[in-house]
Amino acid sequence: MVPYDKHTLEYNGPYGCRYLCSDCRHFASESKTCAMLANPSIKISGKNNICRLFEPRIKNPSAPPFNFDDYLEFLGSDYYRPWGIDRTQVIGKVWGPIESGFDAEGVWRTKYGWKMRYKSYDKPYCCINFPRCHVYYDKYTFEIDYRLYRELEFYRDGAIRYAEKRWRETEKARKVQREFNGIEKIG
Ligand code: SF4
Repeated sequence: MVPYDKHTLEYNGPYGCRYLCSDCRHFASESKTCAMLANPSIKISGKNNICRLFEPRIKNPSAPPFNFDDYLEFLGSDYYRPWGIDRTQVIGKVWGPIESGFDAEGVWRTKYGWKMRYKSYDKPYCCINFPRCHVYYDKYTFEIDYRLYRELEFYRDGAIRYAEKRWRETEKARKVQREFNGIEKIG
């Protein structure tokens, strides 16, 4: 467990940036495949958050050894640090869009003005709410829950476990089809 400042929840560990699959030596940037996934017909996004098997493409000899669990703490408590707003405490004002909508001529307009600036505060680390990771197979895009992706468990027994599956019936189709929370057998 990495030490934190009790009041700000500030992360004090060795990780200062987010790592992506494209930073990993198991990722093939041309074919968009991962050597650690048993099926090369599944493509992954280089922008995904990394899994537990991450190995940096470039190793800096003076850098501390990579520790996935400490790194996850950094992601959840620093990079994706949740925060909230206390609307009872105004600390200033800020200029920005205050209203938008179509006018009588049907033109989209945005009105600018001063807005209240409220006090914000950090919330405790949350290991659940990370963005999903994206993988691709055939004409489908799958969004994968990071809890499965980070253990590389979303692909098991020849099937992808997804949070969301999206596809178009034809290349030119305008409508995107969607299915949620399912299992897709891969041929
Ligand atoms: S899924 Fe894991 S092993 Fe594969 S490229 Fe991403 S971090 Fe590396």
